[in-house]
Amino acid sequence: MRCRSYLWLTNRFVALRIWRRVRTLKEIIFPETCLLCGAELSTRPRVFGAPVCRRCFLNLDRSPQTECAGCGAPVAPDIDLCLSCNNLRELQQPNLLGQINSLLIYRNTASRLISSWKIGSRRALSPLLVVMLGEFLSARIRSAGYASLSDIPVIPVPARPTSRLRRGWDPPGCLTRGLERHYGARVFHPLRRRGKGHQQKSLGREHRFANIQGAFTIRRRFINQLPPKVILFDDVLTTGATAEECARVLRNNGVKEVITVVVARDL
Ligand SMILES: [Zn+2]
Ligand SMILES: [Zn+2]
Repeated sequence: MRCRSYLWLTNRFVALRIWRRVRTLKEIIFPETCLLCGAELSTRPRVFGAPVCRRCFLNLDRSPQTECAGCGAPVAPDIDLCLSCNNLRELQQPNLLGQINSLLIYRNTASRLISSWKIGSRRALSPLLVVMLGEFLSARIRSAGYASLSDIPVIPVPARPTSRLRRGWDPPGCLTRGLERHYGARVFHPLRRRGKGHQQKSLGREHRFANIQGAFTIRRRFINQLPPKVILFDDVLTTGATAEECARVLRNNGVKEVITVVVARDL
């Protein structure tokens, strides 16, 4: 009986994965509606061939022009540091994440884009995100005095093994592979995530930091072998607890400077 229900579940899982693959192909080759607003794409112009209309694309909340010098959060034009960076400085605590470079602010159309892509598994949105992220990152890297994205190694925050299994794909991994292929990024995977602990998004702000402690380790061949400067990459940054724990482990293994890059930041 147990064996039969296991088989039934496995079959359902495989069928769901096949159905999602077919849906992705259809949305890439013959997109009918905008995945963000539902408008018919035959009547509206698209962007980069993605199943997204131009109006939604222009409505995305991008990072603001004036950012906190400590963490990259939006601030008023005449302000240098945001409130939390000011507090860190007064408490003399280190800023482990360095400058946080976020392509989008997680709200309105941008939050629909991210949740549709990640939670709704609309993989047809990945190529659009790769182009947006690649252009954004290349511009940031050049303005910091580097020639290209290949100059600083990229280290992704590993997803929870159970999330990857449940989804059947790895959303941040999809983006870093695109960055490697189209923008020459050098991506390394020195971090390993343990399966223990609760899902971060189910916890309140104060419990997230405690829950994530000790969740990451360094793969043996990378111990004390990491470059001095790296880009730490994640898809969504909420409290920063997960990224901060990764930064702590990286810094304990030879990294001197971390540049945090995320697709969207929740403010
Ligand atoms: Zn739209
Ligand atoms: Zn700040």
